[in-house]
Amino acid sequence: MNANLYLALRQGFPADLDQIAIQTDQGLRYSWRDLERGSAMLANWLESLHLPKGSRIAVQVDKSVEALMLFLASLRAGHVFLPLNPAYQSAELAYFVKDAEPAVVVCTPANFGWVSKLAFQMGTRYVLSLDDQRGGSLLARAAHHSDQHTPVMREPQDLAAILYTSGTTGRSKGAMLSHANLHSSAECLHNYWGFGSQDVLLHALPIFHVHGLFVAIHAALRSGATMLWHAKFEPLRVLADLAGATVFMGVPTFYTRLLALPELNPQACAKMRLFISGSAPMLIDTFQQWQQRTGHTVLERYGMSETLMLTSNPYAADQRFAGQTERVGGSVGFPLPGVSLRIADAQHQEAALGEVGSIQVKGANVFAGYWRMPDKTAQEFTPDGFFITGDMGTRDAQGYVRIVGRSKDLIISGGLNVYPVEIEEALNQLPGVLESAVVGVPHPDFGEVGCAFVLAQSGAVLDSSALLLALKDQLANFKVPKQCFVLSELPRNAMGKVQKNLLREMVKQLEQLGSDPN
Ligand code: AMP
Repeated sequence: MNANLYLALRQGFPADLDQIAIQTDQGLRYSWRDLERGSAMLANWLESLHLPKGSRIAVQVDKSVEALMLFLASLRAGHVFLPLNPAYQSAELAYFVKDAEPAVVVCTPANFGWVSKLAFQMGTRYVLSLDDQRGGSLLARAAHHSDQHTPVMREPQDLAAILYTSGTTGRSKGAMLSHANLHSSAECLHNYWGFGSQDVLLHALPIFHVHGLFVAIHAALRSGATMLWHAKFEPLRVLADLAGATVFMGVPTFYTRLLALPELNPQACAKMRLFISGSAPMLIDTFQQWQQRTGHTVLERYGMSETLMLTSNPYAADQRFAGQTERVGGSVGFPLPGVSLRIADAQHQEAALGEVGSIQVKGANVFAGYWRMPDKTAQEFTPDGFFITGDMGTRDAQGYVRIVGRSKDLIISGGLNVYPVEIEEALNQLPGVLESAVVGVPHPDFGEVGCAFVLAQSGAVLDSSALLLALKDQLANFKVPKQCFVLSELPRNAMGKVQKNLLREMVKQLEQLGSDPN
């Protein structure tokens, strides 16, 4: 069977291609025809290079609609798109280029000097530039090509993209995603979240990550929905555009920053039908405040680069789960249609209801493996073909899944399991605490003990010893962290995930210095 993800997404474009597909925060409007023609010119340019099948197109540029067209062009030409965070510096980029061996690298004009030197040295044949104002050599090249292009057919299992995982431990791994993986996920989200051509999606996420590129953009393109396109998440500008949008997707930090604006109220999101959150856990407090301030219940979902979307709280009554409609704070909802999910014990068998286990998944959405890491890939799949996500979770009697943390973040103290989320939730309930993160650190007696990091609510002054004392009233002693640091902010990556590896590193350094942070 032949396939091309672009053709699958193209099915969703409206009949009238002159309608607006994307409106940018700089006042530019792109019609569906513009997307079609722009991506055709870029695809024709790519084809003119006569690259071998499966060639990688690595792209490290700022967010722009032209960068999106380049992604579509890579699909149309049947190549493998490889987006990279613009924040990566030369040592990081060198790793990706060496590992992925892209035939083409596209970077910003400002970085062209060092990127081209590095890429040419590693064997890349073409290095082009693109900025977020339609400048750079890429578009100049594409301008000479026809704006008509017939997508190149691929097998469904052929790769369409490689997403490098954020790599907080060890080497960053390239998750290989096929046309079939991405297509199945796009169809699933389009249906489950009730997307249609009347929708207006406010897009303020980066487009080098699964959330902004494959969840948000695919859902919009597949549905013929208009996008309000923000180059960056700026709370005031996003708030101003919320009133004209019907769907918003964000990481939890977007929601907390919007909540900090006094102007956020039900009128500010008058046309909204759906707020979606993911990529990191949303605090219950944020979930509840959002309900109070806007009248909307955020739908939290869970997924990852390797698997695309896995679970979602219900958008409408879910007949697979007794017609449930409730979106439960702190839960990531039900497995999406087509996704088999189990909470497994050490023998890879379904754990008892309510027990914590390893989240394992199977489905058309699950990736083809890690790029050039067959051994690592084999380790991450069970003998019966389930992918071991590395997340730990529970499932309740109604079917709601909760994530309790990454398995590598699990703390084993004196032989007993401590799940950081449980401690963080207890800390977050204490007066004056805004947010917290708990990590395991080595301990001569217990093997490992918890170490807490807390942020204070504005105006509150926290005493770390008092916080630990308060926890002792609520939790078994082995769960109570032995140290607690009050910080002014938590280290986060571009998607708002707390970087626990950096927190562990901080403790190590403080111990080497012999200083007591309290
Ligand atoms: P990434 O591949 O960068 O999207 O990271 C995927 C990881 O993010 C997952 O394995 C989870 O650990 C985490 N994650 C994604 N969505 C959620 C969520 N709603 N709640 C908690 N963790 C999440």
